[in-house]
This record gives sequence, structure tokens and C-alpha cells, in this order.
Amino acid sequence: MQVPTWCSKHTTSNFILCAGPVGTCGGVLCRPGSFSVFFPFQAATETDADRRAYAVWVSEIMLQQTQVATVIDYYNRWMQKWPTLQALAQASLEEVNELWAGLGYYSRGKRLQEAARKVVSELAGQMPRTAEDLQKLLPGVGRYTAGAIASISYGQATGVVDGNVIRVLCRLRCIGADSSSPAVIDRLWDMANALVDRSRPGDFNQALMELGATVCVPKAPLCGECPVKQHCRAWRRVEKELAFASQKLFGKLTPVPDVEDCGVGGCPLCPPATEPWDSSLGVTNFPRKAAKKQPRAARTATCVLERRGCHGAPEYLIVQRPSSGLLAGLWEFPSLPLAQDLQEEKQREVLADHLRAWTGWPVVAGGLRFIAGCPHLLSHPPDICGLLPAPGWGCDPGPCLVPVPLGDGGGVPRLSCVHGHEEGAEST
Ligand code: SF4
Repeated sequence: MQVPTWCSKHTTSNFILCAGPVGTCGGVLCRPGSFSVFFPFQAATETDADRRAYAVWVSEIMLQQTQVATVIDYYNRWMQKWPTLQALAQASLEEVNELWAGLGYYSRGKRLQEAARKVVSELAGQMPRTAEDLQKLLPGVGRYTAGAIASISYGQATGVVDGNVIRVLCRLRCIGADSSSPAVIDRLWDMANALVDRSRPGDFNQALMELGATVCVPKAPLCGECPVKQHCRAWRRVEKELAFASQKLFGKLTPVPDVEDCGVGGCPLCPPATEPWDSSLGVTNFPRKAAKKQPRAARTATCVLERRGCHGAPEYLIVQRPSSGLLAGLWEFPSLPLAQDLQEEKQREVLADHLRAWTGWPVVAGGLRFIAGCPHLLSHPPDICGLLPAPGWGCDPGPCLVPVPLGDGGGVPRLSCVHGHEEGAEST
């Protein structure tokens, strides 16, 4: 394998962030107020390694894409309900989804539960003990989560790279290439692994993430208060520019050597020649990302089917999504992706066909009525909903529809029926 050549400014060998006792080295661990990021109390005080790892694991999975303030209540309820891996392994997916409701990215909860079952059934209830094994053996555990669990719970000297760490390291070492590219990500992991404090890896990793979350923030970073500014090449570049501007103002211009010149052509970590350093941005020149893809518009029809049930109360049809893919296994009003250019009349026919297939009842296209459009954004893909009621979809005086397994394989979801509250149910 060819080793990439980068210029000397991207190395970690010439600086160290923290290696001494708290309060003595001026590194990231010495900053007062470190660890205001969410660190589970259970994990800090738990003496059993499996329970400690489980607590860190749950918090790390919940914190993916979700803010600390939102997570705390969910985390506490989760740990109360399933304080151990064994308890989680016995939970049903419905229970997991119920507790996860509102937290988003539901596959996270599902994977946690699957992984807990795997630990119990295949690993004799013992969590893997290294970052490498955690990543290899547990579904849903990526490199970051594995590093966080191993360093915080087991004291393994392994780094972590999340969005905050990417920002800090890219600024510290003026990494201006696309920070989501494999070359940059690999280099950042190398740096994180080289920098991590061997004696307190968990504390160090949390402090570095904290630094990114509170000081080295995306906009308007607080460089003046930063404990590692002396090591920061982006900050030094800004200082040098300010010194140069001041000299110019007072007519005492002396040549300043450009310490940031790397002298290595085609360095894969430097900013591309087409996007040089922009003085107006200062340290926020870094990190850089490739331009985002434009969101793709998609239209989905969501159908509300109502009927009067056994005792005259309104009932609504809900279906279960397939067990894999977006929002896997969750229940919803039946929905159907619609072609962009379909005429309304044609849409009704397509919908009626599907509703007939879903329910087995004679749904008439003419009986469907558009209620409202609802643009909203899912991470993938953006979605526009239309609501269509089907009054009286062949009301059967027999028992209500309770989950009827129609199978995942044919793409036909399971059917169920929910009872509406009289006062809340609108007649459609
Ligand atoms: Fe970030 Fe500024 Fe600190 Fe550099 S000096 S690490 S840019 S906060």
C-alpha cells in the first residue's frame, strides 16, 4: 500500500495535548469545567465492566445525531427499564420503539437491542473488551462508538474521531482537504490515536470532544480562551496575519517567514489550490467539506382509512413497515411513493389499487379525497404527504382487524387497526 506524503505541518510528533496531571500541563484535560458533555453517572461509578460498557454504549448511541439535553431523559428512562444487557435482550422491538419514540433514527434502538441479544446468546453475556472486537462483533457499533466504549469503559488507549474532533484537529493542523474524504478521515484517526493520553484515554477523548463542543465551535470559536492555541497552526496563521497588518499600518514592514508553507506539492491534506486560505474566515477556513448534494424531492401519499368499528367507535388502518430499510418495523398509516408527474385521477386509481391489496376490501377510487399536503424533510429522502380518506372501506360487522401477518417478503405490510377516540376522530 502506498503511504501518502503530506507536509510536516500535519504531523502530531511536534506537539502533545496532555500528558501530565490535571491542571499542570495546559492541555485539553486542564481546562476547568471539562466533561460537561453527557457522561452517564452509571458508567462513572459502576465497577462491573460489562455494566459500565453497556451504560456508555447506550448513551453514545443515543447521542448520535441528537443533542445532550434531549438524550438525558430518554437515557434515564431506558436505564431504569433495562438496566442490563440481559434485560434489554428480553425486550420486544415494540417496547424499544415505544421508549425511543421522538428520539428519531429508530434503527439505533433496534440495533442496540439486536446487539444486546447477540452478546447474551453468542458471547456469554460479556461485552467485547477492545475497540476492534466491539466494532467487529456488535451490529450498529462503528469505529467511533467502539473507541468511545473501549477508552471510557476499559481504559484502552485508543482515540475517537467525531464531528467535534474533526473540527479541532483540522484547525490544529491546517487540514484543508475535504474532511469527509477517506484520506483525511484516516489521517485524523492516526492523529487521534497518536495524541490520546495513555494514562487517561477516556478522560482525554471526552475532553477533546468537549473542546470542540464548547470552545472550538463551528462559528466564532473562542481561540483566546483555548488551552491548545499554542499548538494550533490555524490560530498561528491568523496571529501572523494580524501582526503583519499592524506592521503595515505603522510602516514597519519586516518580512515574516511563512511557517505554514509546506513545500510539498500535491499534499493530500492541504487546501486545494483552487480554494486557498481566505483571510476573512480566519480559523474557520477549516475544516472543509465537499459541497452537499441537493436534496431530492419525492412525493408520498399517506392514506387515512376510517371505518366505524364494532361499537360505532372510529377505527383507523395502520400497517407495519418492512423489517429493514427506512423506519424499519415501525407502524404508520399506509403510504405509497407517488410518481412526480402523475395526474390526480391516476393517483387515486393507483392508491385505490394498493388499498384494495392492503385491506382486501373494495376501495373505490372516487371515494378518496385529498385532505392536505404536508412538506417535511426526512434525512433521506425529503417527503411530501397527501392524506386521503376512504369512507366506509367495506365495513365489516365482524371483529376488528388485529395484526394479520401478510409477510415481509412480498412487500405487503402487516395490517392492524387502531381505535380512535370519539372526541378526537374527525369524520372523513
Ligand atoms: Fe480551535 Fe482556536 Fe483552539 Fe485552534 S486556537 S483549536 S482554532 S479554538
